[in-house]
Amino acid sequence: MGRPLSFLASLPTDVVKGIGPTTAKKLDGAGISSVADLLLHVPRRYLDRSQLFNIAAVPLGEEVTIGGTVVSVRRRRIRGNRTMIDARVSDGTSIVEGVWFNPYLRLEEGSEVALSGKVELYRGKLQMKSPDVDRLDGGGESLITGRVVPVHPSLAGLTSRQVRVSIHNALRRASPVEEVLPEALLDRLDLVDRDTALHAIHFPSELSEVAPARKRLVFDELFRLEVSLALRKRRQIEESSGVAHDVAGALVAGFLDALPYSLTGAQQRTIDEIRADLASPHPMHRLLQGEVGSGKTVVAFAALLMGVQGGFQGAVMAPTEVLAEQHYLGMVDLIDEAGLDPGEIDPAAAEGQDRLFGEGAPDGPEVRTALLTSNNAVVNFAPAGSCKRSDVVGWIGAGLVDLVIGTHALIQEGLHFHRLGVAVVDEQHRFGVYQRIGLREKAADYDPDLLIMTATPIPRTLAMTLYGDLDVSVLDEMPPGRTPVVTRLVSKDPRQLEEVYDLIRGEVAAGRQAFVVCPLVEDSDKLEAASATAEHVRLQAVFPRLRLGLLHGQLRPDEKDRVMHAFRRRELDVLVATTVIEVGIDVPNATVMVIEDADRFGLSQLHQLRGRVGRGPAAATCVLVAEPTTDDGEQRLAAMVETTDGFRLAEEDLRIRGQGTVFGTRQAGMKDLKLADILRDADLLVEARREAFAIVAADPGLERHEAIREDVRALLGSDVEWLLRS
Ligand code: ADP
Ligand code: MG
Repeated sequence: MGRPLSFLASLPTDVVKGIGPTTAKKLDGAGISSVADLLLHVPRRYLDRSQLFNIAAVPLGEEVTIGGTVVSVRRRRIRGNRTMIDARVSDGTSIVEGVWFNPYLRLEEGSEVALSGKVELYRGKLQMKSPDVDRLDGGGESLITGRVVPVHPSLAGLTSRQVRVSIHNALRRASPVEEVLPEALLDRLDLVDRDTALHAIHFPSELSEVAPARKRLVFDELFRLEVSLALRKRRQIEESSGVAHDVAGALVAGFLDALPYSLTGAQQRTIDEIRADLASPHPMHRLLQGEVGSGKTVVAFAALLMGVQGGFQGAVMAPTEVLAEQHYLGMVDLIDEAGLDPGEIDPAAAEGQDRLFGEGAPDGPEVRTALLTSNNAVVNFAPAGSCKRSDVVGWIGAGLVDLVIGTHALIQEGLHFHRLGVAVVDEQHRFGVYQRIGLREKAADYDPDLLIMTATPIPRTLAMTLYGDLDVSVLDEMPPGRTPVVTRLVSKDPRQLEEVYDLIRGEVAAGRQAFVVCPLVEDSDKLEAASATAEHVRLQAVFPRLRLGLLHGQLRPDEKDRVMHAFRRRELDVLVATTVIEVGIDVPNATVMVIEDADRFGLSQLHQLRGRVGRGPAAATCVLVAEPTTDDGEQRLAAMVETTDGFRLAEEDLRIRGQGTVFGTRQAGMKDLKLADILRDADLLVEARREAFAIVAADPGLERHEAIREDVRALLGSDVEWLLRS
């Protein structure tokens, strides 16, 4: 049978021979609090003894490993009451001197050792400062059975060797570690068993044993994560009571018919998927992924109107004021076009009126829409400026408003919906999961359907990890007639800048518009606004004949509005802005996007900014002005010039930044991935997901898979505890 890892996860490290309470405490501080943690602390590299350098031929200043016999050892007291040990090691070709300041290091003349580190020339002799020491002979405890020496990352002040000894002792104490996966699964995926994997990853006798061991342990991590996601999804379905919307009415069809274009295939397909979700009694949890400009907005509105059609309210939560306002204006226009404008109504008279659409509707279908942000409260059924915020809040609560578009204000205390049926969260990466839930809980005794939209092209594998409990629709087709944006990288050389200015003049002369995005000032809206203001003044001198606008986060909301309106109505030629325009701004007539100090922006931000142009039929250009000072910056710019494919950029981003920091957040579960790399291990993630969901589907309480349940519980801890409660 053996000992389960879940049991080992409950054993403190000081049960291991050689680990006392002090070390145990230190290990705990380094995140290693159990024997299981220790066993999952895997080597960072392996030394192959056949790859040792001859000392005589060793390259200076590079990481190398040499092997030889200790010919002399000296211990000396030096200043500061420290101990210095130096040892001469010979391999027959030459001699190297190792120097350590570690009083606990034990070296004896005549023993066989491997030293890993850099060899330097010091006073005419070869020297290594504090190299890792591995004993190759049997002196003391022989941990190395083959010719491969594992090098564990040092931990909490323990050397690599001490860590290795501890793990060796831990493994001896723990083994055999019990298998938790069904044998059929192991066969199907060609996985070695857990005990074999743990031995082979720490103490392989051949390097070729490492890959299968690693594969198995990576699978374990991904599988645990996916099991927890499968359980979460299951819970959602079981515990939620959704609304089976009546999706058959004429409202949505009328709205879609009135669009000035026909839907792309991807939009049509996605709308169908959403319709099926809404018609079912389970609440929808769907992620809508689509390139910038792929037309997510209209899909979202169709979803909202499906809810409205059946007598429910819809809500959209946008990440910024400007974007909420844009959505509102766009929606009101479309409603108007579709003949669904309510005209002016008397809210007092409308109180209590049944909002059922279709045949029974009193005055034919109409969609009452409100914009509610922290600074703005407007409705499309009363003259602008005629209603107070508290009125609008009241009307939403009384069910007089069908559609509400807003910002965070929507989830603030005090706002209550009458019958929220469909909620849309735009640009999800800006919101925490907490807020995502906040919107859902606005509805009382049932769960509204939820659509989460993101323009951040999340690599598929990452989406599966982050949003593994969601269904995903992808708008993988652009509306017709777009020409890809041409991206150019220019330096700050005055002649190059003059060419950029000429490009802007030319486009404006042709009736187009341009954006100039000012340098990012991290963590300071104020400084950023100041720099944008200065740039606006400077550029006005460069373009004396053009009409320039200025947009930044410190402007009053009505000023922001005024500027955005003016730009939309082509009363401005050039908009000088900070990243407030990053998200979702839609002005198809703009054909130039200039980004200053572009190397300071992250890839997803650059991609978002570039997505502000190329939204109409005219060819568009994105100019990146930069003289990058870092490798990362250079790589990001090169990626931008090379491709406009957001998914490829997202993968590039992942590669440059590492998975822990993608989109600036560490998502729950991600921190549990110690070995897995979701890009490199993408295939295994797909397999892990399939197996995990299949097991949970067949055995929702994991009653027949108790070992797996305990494994997930023990290793994912409090993050998943609620999922396992019955
Ligand atoms: P995003 O996915 O970035 O939110 P939007 O919804 O803002 O994209 O749409 C981008 C632009 O494309 C808008 O101007 C919109 O009116 C237009 N659009 C959307 N769908 C289509 C379509 N099927 N055909 C033509 N234009 C479309
Ligand atoms: Mg959008």
